[in-house]
Amino acid sequence: MVMVSADVAAHHASATTAAPDQPKSKTMTVCYIGLGANLNNPAEQIVTALQALDKMPHCRLLSWSSLYGSKPLGPQDQPDYLNVVAAIDTDLAPEALLDSVKQQEDSQGRVKLRHWGERTIDLDILLYGDETYSSDRLTIPHKEMCNRSFVVLPLLEIAPQLILPDGRKLAALEPEFSGEIQRISALTVDL
Ligand code: AMP
Repeated sequence: MVMVSADVAAHHASATTAAPDQPKSKTMTVCYIGLGANLNNPAEQIVTALQALDKMPHCRLLSWSSLYGSKPLGPQDQPDYLNVVAAIDTDLAPEALLDSVKQQEDSQGRVKLRHWGERTIDLDILLYGDETYSSDRLTIPHKEMCNRSFVVLPLLEIAPQLILPDGRKLAALEPEFSGEIQRISALTVDL
């Protein structure tokens, strides 16, 4: 069940603050995942994906932002998007984490219809600790993250002090694609 309500700050806050109290293995890395959806009940798709991030082997969901609404970046004849940014920690290597998130996209029925087109769920690895990583199929930090307000604003909400691997402060960024973005509400997720 999905509940999108403005009155769930307590749950959100406890999820946000849970992590530092818990023992962490030395090999765990905090990563930020960008979630976006604009098909098949997007709020439910986002909640399903957050629950899956928590259940994924070698991953644990630490916190997530409010739900944001944004205008599409690509073709304009598609529904508006819902966006959230989540923090997880994981001992998966970057490529294995990509495999896991791609598998989750598949299991939520993601079909690529067109470039920057509509999707049931999009899961982007934004940051993997303060590491940079590049291969044929994966670039970290995500190439476009700093240009997109629907990534920067929710990320700032959960990590206001964040410093990017290149030393820039997240809070100092001025995303090119400011589009129209609005905070909708906090998001309750039953874990
Ligand atoms: P997308 O259209 O967002 O699903 O991304 C398409 C492809 O981008 C994926 O299949 C990945 O191979 C590639 N990619 C490169 N860097 C990243 C990243 N940081 N997070 C997720 N996908 C990435």
